[in-house]
Amino acid sequence: MPLSPPIEVTDSCLETIPDGWHLPGLKGVLIGENLLQERVSQLAEAIRQTVPPRQPLVVLALLSGAYMFTADLVRRLQGDYEIDFLGVSSYGSGTQSGDLRWTHPMQTELRDKHVIVIDDILDTGQTLNKVTSKLQTERPASIRSCVLLEKRLPTQRPCPFDAEWIGFRIPPLFVVGYGLDFGLRFRQLPFIGILDCEDHERGTD
Ligand code: 5GP
Ligand code: MG
Repeated sequence: MPLSPPIEVTDSCLETIPDGWHLPGLKGVLIGENLLQERVSQLAEAIRQTVPPRQPLVVLALLSGAYMFTADLVRRLQGDYEIDFLGVSSYGSGTQSGDLRWTHPMQTELRDKHVIVIDDILDTGQTLNKVTSKLQTERPASIRSCVLLEKRLPTQRPCPFDAEWIGFRIPPLFVVGYGLDFGLRFRQLPFIGILDCEDHERGTD
């Protein structure tokens, strides 16, 4: 069965924060744990159906935000493949996606392999655009990408990147949890949450 379109999420009705997870600054739950896990299973199944059997495959997770999503995804993606990590950080100030800085190198070589890049969230699309352009220079057999979240852009500006597999489409809010941080905090939340005050724009990637 093909993957259903991204699940549209709004912030009009936040779920309450589960017991034990009331961290200072956290306002509410945008995507609860059960729905997240259900969607991760659907994404894994869609990837499994698309990837050619018996051909070299690399699942390449972008550090750090995609670590928890990747851990859950690969546990549902049976088969023989490599898992590697690439650290990228966009520096620059405030809300702007700046130039990419490589913070952790890959171990593997990509030539003639199928590559699936996993990221936490597609915002302006700059990160995945630049990462996949750079990976193309290694001449992989194919590059596809899977993101848990895609932000609806506040304007009609087209996103410069289309991911093959998308979990949820969310409002243009700053989100945390399930690997995504604000100042390195909140990554441990098993759900996607939003913060009390809306003046933070970026995490630490
Ligand atoms: P893009 O290059 O698509 O604008 O940004 C992608 C990266 O910015 C993501 O991989 C993520 O690390 C970071 N980012 C974008 N939006 C958010 C957000 O709402 N929360 C957090 N914590 N990080 C974000
Ligand atoms: Mg990131």
